[in-house]
Amino acid sequence: MLEYKELNPISPILIHWYQSNKRDLPWREIHDPYQIWISEIILQQTRVAQGFDYFVRFIHQFPDIKSLATAHEDEVLKCWQGLGYYSRARNLHAAAKQIMENFNGKFPSAYNDILSLKGIGEYTAAAVASFAFKLSFAVVDGNVFRFLSRYFGIQTPIDSGAGKKEFLQLADALLDKRQPDLHNQAIMEFGALQCTPTAPDCNRCPFSNSCFAKENDLISSLPVKGNKTKVTHRYFHHFIVLANGGTFLHKRTQKDIWQNLYEFPLYESPHPMELSDIIQTEWFRSLTQRQTFQIGLQITEIKHILSHQVIHASFFVIKIDEQTPDLPQFIYIATDKLWQYPVSKLTEKFIKKFSQNLDSPKNEYNFTSN
Ligand code: SF4
Repeated sequence: MLEYKELNPISPILIHWYQSNKRDLPWREIHDPYQIWISEIILQQTRVAQGFDYFVRFIHQFPDIKSLATAHEDEVLKCWQGLGYYSRARNLHAAAKQIMENFNGKFPSAYNDILSLKGIGEYTAAAVASFAFKLSFAVVDGNVFRFLSRYFGIQTPIDSGAGKKEFLQLADALLDKRQPDLHNQAIMEFGALQCTPTAPDCNRCPFSNSCFAKENDLISSLPVKGNKTKVTHRYFHHFIVLANGGTFLHKRTQKDIWQNLYEFPLYESPHPMELSDIIQTEWFRSLTQRQTFQIGLQITEIKHILSHQVIHASFFVIKIDEQTPDLPQFIYIATDKLWQYPVSKLTEKFIKKFSQNLDSPKNEYNFTSN
């Protein structure tokens, strides 16, 4: 590992590289803390190419703190639909309200005040503080971790408490205090474009003569990650109950994935289950209220991968020609209003397919649930 006292003045090299290589992004030249905040939250766990459209749409719909704070949460989630990690949208909404109440509707300019907002951690606080207010706080995101660990040969796991502290201290020591905004943008962009996770182009890198990982053939083993998060498998069986032109939805209010998004009545099982077995459950009998039903469109064996979970999903359209079931735990809506509700990407994909097949259901069978 390079001793930190051997630090090269890397900031001018990074900034020089940045000025000739940076991407042209809509949030790049802005200094409005609100827009910077929105862009930073969108870009967490999202690729720039995907985040770009969402940013433009979000700012168009909620151009300032007040419009976001006064919106209904469903509108905010609908605008976020498909981007995943929906707690980010819920927190943005809550933080906008916090700004209205505690900071007279003006985005706070002190680091600790920014950090006090819901959903803002050290990374985002440093990004907004430096980009919008030129405060000297170093940002350390995944791109910065990667570049620093390779360049200095740091083997401390980046997801450990000791690692986070060490990298933050180093990033602070490297920060150009006269232009922290430019320095932070440059180091992040360098990690994103030049010192990439796989196959970085080391031969065209301005640090190729002093990079520890390159010299010691450690590029593929840095940065080091400690804990491998366990992936859980879940089995979601959704039922689209069609009765008299309407269907049922449920709002996921429990603390879980997709909180406050809507979904079709869901039967979750700890292991794979056949439809014929679910039909025998008390849950299903109360869903159809023991009426005769037909099974229409069936889509099964969909694998939906989230960061720590694999959802094995299926969708079954159930048509009831008798009475609309009385199901107070669900909301009953016209099927052509489905698109108005914020749903997960998984459900969104199904709704698109479902709409195409609505008038020509396939695989119809008659059943009685009793
Ligand atoms: S030489 Fe390669 S590994 Fe080292 S900083 Fe440059 S791109 Fe990254």
